[in-house]
Amino acid sequence: MGKAGRLSEGSDTLGFMVRIGAHVDQDDPLAHAAARDADVVQFFLGDPQGWKGPVMPASADAIRDSEVDVYIHAPYLINVATANNRIRIPSRKLLEGQLKAAASLGAKGLIVHGGHLNKDDDPQIGFDNWRKVFERMDCPIPVLIENTAGGGNAMTRRLDTIARLWDAATAGAQDPSKIGFCLDTCHAHAGGEDLIGIVDRVLAITGRIDLIHCNDSRDSFDSGADRHTNLGTGQIDPDQILTICRTANAPIVVETPSEGQADDIAFLRKHL
Ligand SMILES: [Zn+2]
Repeated sequence: MGKAGRLSEGSDTLGFMVRIGAHVDQDDPLAHAAARDADVVQFFLGDPQGWKGPVMPASADAIRDSEVDVYIHAPYLINVATANNRIRIPSRKLLEGQLKAAASLGAKGLIVHGGHLNKDDDPQIGFDNWRKVFERMDCPIPVLIENTAGGGNAMTRRLDTIARLWDAATAGAQDPSKIGFCLDTCHAHAGGEDLIGIVDRVLAITGRIDLIHCNDSRDSFDSGADRHTNLGTGQIDPDQILTICRTANAPIVVETPSEGQADDIAFLRKHL
């Protein structure tokens, strides 16, 4: 299918075209996209739990030429907020390397978690550290800061800290248009943010939602647990998920267990 996406088929619909896809294994992203009938793929460049630099997929040229939209998820270890130099400095370096690699693949954005501080740290340290990232880093493509489910003293679990982070980051940025936001439904629910009206509350802070991570949550509201599950099999009302997807007007990526992703995508296409 072409870049313009497809018209949705549901009856109660908006009629807008939304591009929908999945987080897939980096061994062959385009094959995984085809198997799921996905318009969009997200994957890692290398070990998501490692500090090594980006690893390009073997099919990089085909990915660049493909009509499938690409998003890259940065490694989980990146924590540019922390007061600990021995984590913050390699985190910045890794973020910059991932961003360059993602741009060279033609990715639309690089998703990174907000990070966290130690228990007794002043949150202002984290906001200042985020500001410094965008003061110094040249961004060829947008960095999409994602909300997280839990963690002590997390930077992007709650909207109040997201608001302060956003103000700090955009104030210092060489190019504020390169700072974007990725809203994860599982993380918002498990992180203790009410999903009703959340799109408007986020937009009031950021003015933009660049990507939806559309996941159900195995765990209860405000549990702080980050365990994704296929749509309709967890604790989130599917109607709330659909409302978020309808109102955000952004591309959608499911980060759900692989075997159910084709069904998750089909469910979204049917109802949006
Ligand atoms: Zn996510």
